[in-house]
Amino acid sequence: MLNKAVFVDRDGVINEMIYVKEHGYVDTPSNPVQFKIIKGVARSIKIAKKLGYKVIIISNQPGMAKGYYAKKTFDLITKKMHVILEKSNTKIDDEFYCFHHPNAKLKKYRKKCSCRKPRAGLLKRASEEHRIDLKNSYFVGDGIVDMEAAKRAGCKGIFIGNVNSSITELFNKKKIHPHYIARDLLDAVNFIKNNI
Ligand SMILES: [Mg+2]
Ligand SMILES: [Zn+2]
Repeated sequence: MLNKAVFVDRDGVINEMIYVKEHGYVDTPSNPVQFKIIKGVARSIKIAKKLGYKVIIISNQPGMAKGYYAKKTFDLITKKMHVILEKSNTKIDDEFYCFHHPNAKLKKYRKKCSCRKPRAGLLKRASEEHRIDLKNSYFVGDGIVDMEAAKRAGCKGIFIGNVNSSITELFNKKKIHPHYIARDLLDAVNFIKNNI
């Protein structure tokens, strides 16, 4: 029998985004101190697992490609996430990251890959490794690219965020129809629970 999963984006779903003045927009945390788990995330993971879903991170992390931080720092951030969740007696089942960027500063990450969302490469790899039925799975994300990847992979997208007219227009243009619009991961998981 195939497994089912709640795939989750990382930044803005698991952890808070931070405002980076130099970049002029909210971005991924670039050190462990900036990495803060959003309230309710540990509880959400527990609920999803209790419902029989694997919880798997699917995330673009081009920070190293852009030269924002080293691999060592990324590993420390990941470690911090694991430690926090462990303290709440839960854990993520697996994590799949795309470290590439088409215009990467660092040559080893410069690639037009098939794993960077909106492409479905990471979802496909995760579904193969964990024998997951994509049709019966969800992808929760706060980015248009997440909903696009969900559509391409054939799983149900749950969008986290405020849907204003410009986002609606983008969704329509790309023919993306999220299954549900959620406030946060906890809201998303409760929706899944009520719709089994
Ligand atoms: Mg995100
Ligand atoms: Zn990639």
